[in-house]
Amino acid sequence: MTEVYQPTPEVRSFLDRQHRLLIGGKWVEASSEKRFEVINPANKQLLTTVAEGGRDDVNRAVQAARQAFDSGSWSEMAAAQRTKILWRWADLIEQNAEQLIALEVLDNGMPITLARGFFDYGVGWIRYYAGMTDKIMGKNLSDALSSSDTQYHAYTQIKPIGVAALILPWNGPIGLFLIKTSPALAAGCACVVKPAENTPLTALRMAELALEAGVPEGVLNVVTGFGEAGEALAQHPAVDKISFTGSTSVGKTIICAASANLKRVTLELGGKSPCIIFDDANLDEAIPAAAMAIFLNSGQVCFAGSRLYVQRKIYDRVVAGIADFSQTLKVGDGMHPDTMLGPLISEQQLHRVNQLVDSGRRQGAQILTAKMALSNEGFFFAPTIFANVDANMSIVKEEIFGPVLVATPFDTTEEVLALANDTQYGLGAGIFSNNINRVHRVAEKLQAGNVWVNHYGGMQSCMPFGGFKQSGWGRELGEDGFLAFTEQKSVSIQLRGN
Ligand code: NAD
Repeated sequence: MTEVYQPTPEVRSFLDRQHRLLIGGKWVEASSEKRFEVINPANKQLLTTVAEGGRDDVNRAVQAARQAFDSGSWSEMAAAQRTKILWRWADLIEQNAEQLIALEVLDNGMPITLARGFFDYGVGWIRYYAGMTDKIMGKNLSDALSSSDTQYHAYTQIKPIGVAALILPWNGPIGLFLIKTSPALAAGCACVVKPAENTPLTALRMAELALEAGVPEGVLNVVTGFGEAGEALAQHPAVDKISFTGSTSVGKTIICAASANLKRVTLELGGKSPCIIFDDANLDEAIPAAAMAIFLNSGQVCFAGSRLYVQRKIYDRVVAGIADFSQTLKVGDGMHPDTMLGPLISEQQLHRVNQLVDSGRRQGAQILTAKMALSNEGFFFAPTIFANVDANMSIVKEEIFGPVLVATPFDTTEEVLALANDTQYGLGAGIFSNNINRVHRVAEKLQAGNVWVNHYGGMQSCMPFGGFKQSGWGRELGEDGFLAFTEQKSVSIQLRGN
């Protein structure tokens, strides 16, 4: 029997609130007055209910954002002042860290140690982009354009794009909220955020803190709700930019919806990332790293290293090592400090993972991990490793989004590159090797937006993050993450007279 977590008074008082939509700086009910339930995936208990925003509410939120943007209250504020407010927001979020982290764990299920790590990343992203407001600027191109006959004063400007719709998934709610709002706000945009229906809570609290920090009314709006609200945002003619993180299938519908007014679109989508271990790797480091590449957050990570390729000479040892390691991972309620793997997000997700694992078994793949006794109070799933897989099986091709690894031996570099790149996705890839020449050659040929060598994963402020192929369009983080919320204008003035 696991210990039952008792929420602190700050967490309890937040859960007990009547959660509404944030539109134009005011907390309002959905126009339908509908609400939906928020469930703790570790015990299936009701945490609270939130307003279910629909098309009307999206319309109101977009209008509020449009008005705020056009008023210039934020978009034309001195850059240094925007920086100050964003820093204050980061400070307030940090001051409320314990409450936000507990809400994150209750809402999403992730282990509290992981929630702390993601939280630190997220706050770092606010400060990184807060510092960028007065560092991204246009160029003076007068000399390039002018001649002795005709002189120009010519320059480019970087302008905020306007109203940005930010649609989020559930697998890292704090971080995903901040990875989009921080650059969008720093660039001077007004935003409408649609958090995932499974995990709406921390977005509401962080938006409240943004108001307290001094973000003007209407600049940050939050509409909690389902896919219908996301669809309304993607279709809305007054939205200039859509930044979507979620599944590849919904990402494709976003592109169609956005085409009506040619919204700018950034997509961060699914993955089936390869993790490659060569026989010269330091296995004491590679084995736990490859295990956590897939098992972190119970495999509910877009860049999870879900396909393992190991050079034949060390294959048995590595696969057995990862299987042994996985048995040491405590699966349970994320609130328990020893928990290493929390539950999956929902009944539906548990069902999907079970179905895919069954399909692997039926198709002849072999499970190497021992059965674990898991509580059925929550949506728990044990770490699972498959061997004897072939490249056409669903478990090898499809994103499972659960703690399920498929392992394949290889002989040569050419062979493993062909296997690793044989996917519709291209988000992440890992290489473990001590041969620097091999590392460079393989990193060069991998079709993935992010390659990690002798470590796996991570989303650092300064490193652009995003996918090749059907893992997405565009990049988040780094300067690219900021520029994604801007337009460039070229101005040339022909000079006359003496
Ligand atoms: P999802 O696509 O089902 O939902 C994502 C969001 O889109 C939710 O807020 C949902 O309400 C909304 N939505 C649903 N239908 C919509 C529609 N027709 N129009 C507009 N919005 C709609 O994804 P999910 O299950 O919440 O998240 C898991 C997926 O997210 C995985 O595929 C994972 O790989 C991906 N992901 C990618 C990254 C990345 O950076 N590449 C990061 C995290 C998660």
